[in-house]
Amino acid sequence: MKPEPIDISETKSVPSKIEMRRECGDCSMCCEGHLNAVIHGIPMSKGRPCHFLGKCDGGGCTIYEDRPPLCEAYQCLWKYTPTLPEWMKPNLSDVIMAYHEEEMNGEQVGYLTLREGNNTIRSDVLNYVLRLCLEHNKNLEYECNGSWYHLGDHEWIRFHVEKGGGEVHDGVTIPELAQTP
Ligand code: SF4
Ligand code: SF4
Repeated sequence: MKPEPIDISETKSVPSKIEMRRECGDCSMCCEGHLNAVIHGIPMSKGRPCHFLGKCDGGGCTIYEDRPPLCEAYQCLWKYTPTLPEWMKPNLSDVIMAYHEEEMNGEQVGYLTLREGNNTIRSDVLNYVLRLCLEHNKNLEYECNGSWYHLGDHEWIRFHVEKGGGEVHDGVTIPELAQTP
């Protein structure tokens, strides 16, 4: 399938300065234990949803008015990037994308993260995001079947992986992309 032309250049801005353009609606993926955070002293991590997430009547935050600032500030990429298709909404695509920046050699470097939700990432979703990042020259850190991979500027990849205590293994190919017309 030919990728749709799309503009994700707005992701150059830092999320705190971006006006929100979409509503979360029926999605609560960022509260369901796919991200790591400590909420009012109680950890949330992979497989461990937020303690304050409602468990019946469709869930939702049970302490909405008293949720910590990090919850109020969090915006996934889908929420403030209107050019990402509707089917990339986290509860439809089963992935959460976010934008981050880190300092490398005195400069701020941006990168995207693609995190799996409840299941191993679907091939159509992975293929779409890899193509998008290649097309727009974006650095990407992505999860596939529980392991993490990187795409983008080699200097950033080495810096980012080693900063996290990992090792870079070169020579990984992306056969799905090579085979797709
Ligand atoms: S993952 Fe995105 S769309 Fe879903 S609840 Fe969180 S911020 Fe809203
Ligand atoms: S406190 Fe509410 S908004 Fe924050 S992670 Fe928990 S359920 Fe989500």
